[in-house]
Formats: sequence, C-alpha cells, structure tokens
Amino acid sequence: MSVEILNIGDEYADFLHDESRREGRAEKIAFPASTEEVRAALRIAASNQWPVTVQGGRTGITGGSVPDGGLILNLSRMNAIGEIQGDRLAVQPGATLSAIRTVVDGVVDPVLFFPSDLTETTASIGGMVACNASGARSFRYGPVRNWIQALDVVLVSGETIRLERGVHKADGLNFKLGTIEGQLPVLGTPGGVKSAAGYFVKPDMDLVDLFIGAEGTLGIVTEITLRLLPRPAEMSGLTAFFASESDALQFVRFLRGAGSPTPPTAIEFFDFQSLELLRRMKSENPAFAELPELKPTFHTAIYFEYDGEVPDAVVAKAGEAIDCWFAVGEREIEILKHFRHAIPESVNMLIGERKRTIPELTKLRTDMSVPDDQLENVMRMYHDGLTTAGLEHVIFGHIGNNHVHVNILPRSLAEYEQGKALYLDWAKQVVAMGGSVSAEHGIGKIKTDFLKLMYGDVGIQEMQALKNLFDPHGLLNRGNLFAVYNYLSGR
Ligand SMILES: Cc1cc2nc3c(=O)[nH]c(=O)nc-3n(C[C@H](O)[C@H](O)[C@H](O)COP(=O)(O)OP(=O)(O)OC[C@H]3O[C@@H](n4cnc5c(N)ncnc54)[C@H](O)[C@@H]3O)c2cc1C
Repeated sequence: MSVEILNIGDEYADFLHDESRREGRAEKIAFPASTEEVRAALRIAASNQWPVTVQGGRTGITGGSVPDGGLILNLSRMNAIGEIQGDRLAVQPGATLSAIRTVVDGVVDPVLFFPSDLTETTASIGGMVACNASGARSFRYGPVRNWIQALDVVLVSGETIRLERGVHKADGLNFKLGTIEGQLPVLGTPGGVKSAAGYFVKPDMDLVDLFIGAEGTLGIVTEITLRLLPRPAEMSGLTAFFASESDALQFVRFLRGAGSPTPPTAIEFFDFQSLELLRRMKSENPAFAELPELKPTFHTAIYFEYDGEVPDAVVAKAGEAIDCWFAVGEREIEILKHFRHAIPESVNMLIGERKRTIPELTKLRTDMSVPDDQLENVMRMYHDGLTTAGLEHVIFGHIGNNHVHVNILPRSLAEYEQGKALYLDWAKQVVAMGGSVSAEHGIGKIKTDFLKLMYGDVGIQEMQALKNLFDPHGLLNRGNLFAVYNYLSGR
C-alpha cells in the first residue's frame, strides 16, 4: 500500500493554519483515505525523520493542527460513517459533527442521538476525540470522552492498536498496549473540574481514555466507535434576565443544586457587556436587526435547557427574574441559540474591523474552569482585573461548569500586551483555586506555559516520559502540549 505525498505549494497554504490563526510551515502533505494509507505515510515520514502533524477540520483554536515542519497528514478524506448497530456507530476520524448528526437524526423515527454539541459543527470527530471537546450540553452529558466506546489508533511506529472501553484496561498504573509497556504517571488531575489540559490518567483506567484529549501526541485515531443515547423528549429552553450578576449567579446555584428536581442539560451565561454589545450591533448593523429587543433593565442573562419540560419549580424560580423568554422544541430553541451565537459573531466582527488598522491584533479568549465553590471568586477575579486594566471585554459561556470564556477585545497593541499579562495572572490564580487552564479547547501549541503552571516541572516531565514511550523521536504532533525546546532538550 502506498500513499501520495505532495509538495507544499501555494495551493496548500490554507493547511498551514487553524482557527488560532497561527501560521505554521511544512514541506509535504498527504490526504490518506484509509488506515493503511496512514501507516504508509508514517513509514515514509519515519524513514526521512519528518515530523508529522495530524489535521481534522482545522477548527481548533490552540494551534494543535498547525504544522511545525515536515509532513501534514490531513484526514479529511477518511470521512466514512457506518450504519447504526444497536446503540453503536463506527465512523472514520474525518467525519464532521454535522455529517454524523445528519446520519443519526436522519433515521426514520430516530430513537437515538449523539449528545456532543460543540458550536463549531465542521469540527471532525477525530479532532473532537483528540481534544476531548465539549459543548453547552456537556453540563448534563459531559465531554465527548463519555460517548467513545472504542478507537483504532496507529502509533508512530506504524503499529495499529484497537482499544475497547471495558476491555483494555491498566493494571493499577501498569499498562501494555501492543508492543508498548509502561507505567502511567500520577498527575494529580483536578477532580470534579471540567478539563481538557494534558493527559488523562488514573489507576486501572480504560486505556482508550489515554488517547482521548491527548491532542494527537500519542497516536493517530483512524476509527472511532461512538455510543449513542436514547433520544430524549422534546427539549425546552429558557433565557432569564436578571437585574444584577449576583442575582444571576444565585439562580445558577439553584439550577444545579437541590432546587432543580432534574438537572438541566445546559446552563449558559451572558454578562452585562455581552448584552450591551448585542444592543449596539442591533442598532448599528443590519445583519443583527432580527435580534429581539433587550430592555435597558436587563443586566445579566442565563440560558438553560432541559430534555422534556422545564420543571414547575424552575419555572416558578425563573419567574423571579425580571423577564424570561421560553422556547419549546428545536425550532424555537434555534431562535434562542441565534441570540447566543450572535455574541461571538459580533466579537469576531469587531476584532476583524480593528485588524484592518492593526493587523497584529487578535482577541484573547480564556477557556478556564474552577471547582463549584470558586464560582463567585473567579468571576470577581475577572471583573476586578478587567476594571483595573480598563480593557474592553465580554464574558459568556458554560457557567454550569464554572467555565466562562472571557473575551478581551484590545483596541491597541499596548492593550493586547496588557490583556496577555492579565490572562497569565488569571491562569496562576485559577490553578491556585484548583481549576484547569483549559476546560475544552486543549493546550495545543499556544498554551504550553499554562500546562506547566498547572502540573509543574515534575508533572510535565512525567507526561513527556509517557509520550517518549509512544514516540521516542518526538515526531508526532511536535509542539503540542510540550514546547518543542522543552521536549527535545528534556528540560
Ligand atoms: C467558532 C468555533 C466554535 C467552537 N466551539 C467549540 C465548542 O463549543 N466546544 C469545543 O470543545 N471546541 C470548540 N471549538 C474548538 C474546535 O472546534 C474543537 O477543538 C474541535 O475539537 C477541533 O476539531 P477539528 O476537527 O477541527 O480538529 P483540528 O483543529 O484539525 O485538530 C485539533 C487537534 O486534534 C488533533 N487531531 C485531529 N484529528 C486527529 C486524529 N484523527 N488523531 C489524532 N489527533 C488528531 C490535531 O493534531 C490537533 O492537535 C470551536 C472552534 C471555533 C472556531
């Protein structure tokens, strides 16, 4: 079996970046169509000592699929989706979330569903597995890890291993996978906190979990068996508007605590600045004219969703907010989601305009989570830092998991540098609170310093030792998780 290896020319320039907008470099690219072709490409790379960077949909925002020289393995042609067998569905890694949904939802009288709901539906399932991606509904259903039954993984040596949940397990910290034997590190991964930062390891673990969230540093995922869930009753959604952020946070505590008889599937947050931005876009930009009117008294909004009806106790509690918008069924929920999507869209537009005069500017977007008892503290930390620095911003996201995205919108390069310094300071404080420096986007190439903050030098060395077992020459997804100079020098 062979595979075509192409020279990188201008026609492949797009493959040198992902949504982080970081530019990479590579000399070769291949678009394998099968596991065999992936193996063939790896053989050629190994004989030339080329680093190999794996790509799915390139929607990642941490530079994970941005190449650092050598060969790009773009898996977009490996996009077959099998037939549903019981509650299982086998897919190739290049299949997009939207294509998988079309198949699962397109069955006559569908009885099953796939709960992962990232906002970016052109993401590939291979990329989602590699990043252990999440979405709004992860509050109830957890990250994609929970819905992965089995993986086929090709190691950099060309060896292919099949990992099945419940079958291939570590024995304490010892493991054997094909010809690879070793010990798992003890990393002190923060418990009970949503995290996509670094390797997932624990004693007696299902070894399939080692590759989920490993950002392609241990092996290339070439087939995935998904576990589907019984389709829930028709969803209902509600957006409640509050006169203050503290009222909104109290409502969040009610929703995820004993106050709510069944857990919502999603709990999302929009701060005062997010609502202000929407008001401004609606009045200034015809593309946002359809947005519903946001009364001046609306300070903070909480959007939440239930499978089935919103419980009466929750409706009664939401009645204490200054206003509520209800939605029943997917069509009405889409309207509420349009409101939610309008915020990142507005942010991107605003930054796009500013980039015209200052091309180096980008938005700075945090992705950190903290334990439940730190919610108010982390929100205070964000607000205090932003107010002191006088930086324009919006805060929105997955507050059910204490995971909001702070978007800093710099107006100058000086503000950009100020924003970066603030982000670093926050990361240190989040780690001190027992949180994670990345809850869903991963570390990629741009947050390796943050990973070090979280696990310390010893933790990083232990993760590198694990990587060494699978990839002794550091060829696969070089620069992800570990800065290249650290990895190669062993420091
Ligand atoms: C507008 C927007 C909204 C987003 N919303 C969300 C969200 O709601 N939730 C969320 O979690 N993320 C979100 N993201 C981030 C991104 O979509 C996810 O990280 C997604 O999982 C990346 O998938 P991809 O196929 O694009 O992967 P890529 O960007 O191509 O790659 C991501 C990483 O996975 C590795 N990889 C890809 N395929 C494989 C494979 N088969 N084997 C091994 N490694 C592989 C790559 O090497 C890279 O390190 C969003 C991004 C954008 C631009």
